[in-house]
Amino acid sequence: MVPAAALMGFGIWNLKHIQRSGQVEAAFQRDFSHVLKIAENKSWHKAYDVVMPIRSQFPNAEQSRAEIEANLDRILTQHPEFSYALFYDKKSNLFVGRMQPGRDLDPNFCGRSQEAIKMAASWIPLEASHIATKVRVAMEKEDEPVLFDGGWVLNDNQHIYWNLGYFIPPDVPKDRVELGFVSLDEDYLRDRFFPALMADVLNSKDNVLRQDAYPPAMMIHPAKESTPWVASANWDGGKPEAERNFQYVFQDLALAIKYHGTTVADMSSRFLRYNYIVLSALSLLMIGGIWLTYRNVSREMKLARLKSDFVANVSHELRTPLALIRLYAETLELGRLTAQEKYHEYFRIIREESERLTALINNILDFSRIEAGRKEYEFKETNLAELVRTTLDSYRFQIEQNGFAFEENISGDIPPVNVDREAIARSLLNLVNNALKYSKDQKYIGVSLYRSNGSVKLEVQDRGIGIAAAEQDKIFDKFYRCGDPLVHTTKGSGLGLSLVRHIAQAHGGNVSVESVPEKGSKFTIALPIDPSVRAGAALA
Ligand code: ADP
Repeated sequence: MVPAAALMGFGIWNLKHIQRSGQVEAAFQRDFSHVLKIAENKSWHKAYDVVMPIRSQFPNAEQSRAEIEANLDRILTQHPEFSYALFYDKKSNLFVGRMQPGRDLDPNFCGRSQEAIKMAASWIPLEASHIATKVRVAMEKEDEPVLFDGGWVLNDNQHIYWNLGYFIPPDVPKDRVELGFVSLDEDYLRDRFFPALMADVLNSKDNVLRQDAYPPAMMIHPAKESTPWVASANWDGGKPEAERNFQYVFQDLALAIKYHGTTVADMSSRFLRYNYIVLSALSLLMIGGIWLTYRNVSREMKLARLKSDFVANVSHELRTPLALIRLYAETLELGRLTAQEKYHEYFRIIREESERLTALINNILDFSRIEAGRKEYEFKETNLAELVRTTLDSYRFQIEQNGFAFEENISGDIPPVNVDREAIARSLLNLVNNALKYSKDQKYIGVSLYRSNGSVKLEVQDRGIGIAAAEQDKIFDKFYRCGDPLVHTTKGSGLGLSLVRHIAQAHGGNVSVESVPEKGSKFTIALPIDPSVRAGAALA
């Protein structure tokens, strides 16, 4: 009991601890952050993969302005993902800016691109030396030939995201400041680049968050605002579980992630609820187990107590008739009795006591045979009326001697029935004997034998102390004796009725009791007339 309670207590404490310390949420947070980090890494590689091929085709100052313009136009035509490309040579102060030729019919696009090129024309000459140094350092130190910059601008009352990849074109001598810029188009980023990136991250095999019930969803929003700018198809709104600002390529943008259709708080409370349910079920099982063990142990203890009561009762029952037999036999042996009736009385007492002994020993022997499964019955076609009459005849004297009114009622239409003579006679004697033992002032015993509904019924009725309703089922159990004070002062082993029941059932019948405390009891043994009923019962 104590270890079980300790185990349950520990389980509950542990769950409470997990709940309070937010361990479940923390584990999810770690996973979310991990996935966002992977996403940013991938974005960096993807951006590189887009810009690197352009860099290798980029013109340098060896070419004339017209050639440079033609080259930039060609590159842009081949790569619609860029909105414009810029070239700057500090030595000749040559600035060339070209817009995506494929979209010159889109006024919105043209407007914002021209605006950006115009601005670039003014700030690039000022910053070029500084930028070129930065690129050279990155190339030497990190082996990164392209750098990126990005952010939001307000254009025509509209927030536009711009992104520039910049580099030194190939074959530019170290002492020259020449730069190439390409701008990743906003529409391309929003409609293709980021959706592909998110799908790639979310569907990747090493996505630790992947699960069927609640797939993870991502979105990208301006770093300073939480409204989604680009979202994965399954983004269902709500607060992200984790966020990460882009640091390398897509400055001023942030990544956000959550589960579709649920929140971590919900999942954590579901997890705890599930664990509490399992714990409660286990506790219930454990309590059930303890209860069963307790019931078994107490049943065993009760049986042990009944057995020791039985031994005490039986020894007492054996000793009393033996002592009486010895006392009267010794008196007879002394030969001092004068009156003839005294002799008769003493012989009768000796006979009666030895009969009681025989009955008791027969009960005990029968009981032990039944317990060992060795009890066998000898069924023979029997005239039950005759059997009951002769059994009662040898008892009648004793019954009347004890001051009992005795009524015998044997119906004339009893058919022959297949029974074990001895067993039925013993059952009858047990019932009559109980009626004798458990009666006080109202001394009456009635025995009836009659036919009813395919069976023959043998009834023994008394007007004795009766049996409480709650005990009427138990009296047929072995060793059971009622709590009535008279029962305790009366000798008995608690075996008689359990034998009667066994015998009745072996005959395919049963025994029942009707009883009212202080009014009396009626025991009825019902025996089927048709022998196949008995065979069926025996088989079952
Ligand atoms: P016992 O040896 O105690 O008589 P039984 O198995 O014959 O054992 O009876 C079990 C118990 O049933 C008795 O101890 C008694 O309490 C109760 N009992 C049996 N017959 C009667 C009866 N005719 N009237 C009242 N109580 C009875």
